[in-house]
Amino acid sequence: MTVSMEEALYLAGTTLKVRRVFEAMDAGREDDAAAVVNALVVSTGARPQLDRVPGEPWQVHFHGADDTIAVGWSAGIASALTLAIGSDLGGRLGVCQARQCDRVYVDTSRNGVRQFCSRSCQSRMKAAAFRARSAGRAAR
Ligand SMILES: [Zn+2]
Repeated sequence: MTVSMEEALYLAGTTLKVRRVFEAMDAGREDDAAAVVNALVVSTGARPQLDRVPGEPWQVHFHGADDTIAVGWSAGIASALTLAIGSDLGGRLGVCQARQCDRVYVDTSRNGVRQFCSRSCQSRMKAAAFRARSAGRAAR
């Protein structure tokens, strides 16, 4: 599969918009997130479609105004975000709280209290907090 420079730039633009959605949801600004997602739905022409692989049952897929990698994938992402934000799953979109990390995540934990994109970031922040507490005790 080859991605043209034009498609790569289109997808990069989509990721910037998706980042804004995650930041808005993480900050409790659902109206801002919805506005970005709705604009993405319109610009990609996102629409549901039933697709089937021979021998398999029909499945709901999301397509765009065309099925290029850039527009098709962006439409799928936009559709997924509408389903998340339009349900009780919107609160599961988060921004990693670790310093020097710019990742976002979808919180799939049972209780929905995730703050970090990965165990690596969680461990790094726990270690930093431990060092800060230890340094505070040593200074007394
Ligand atoms: Zn992280």
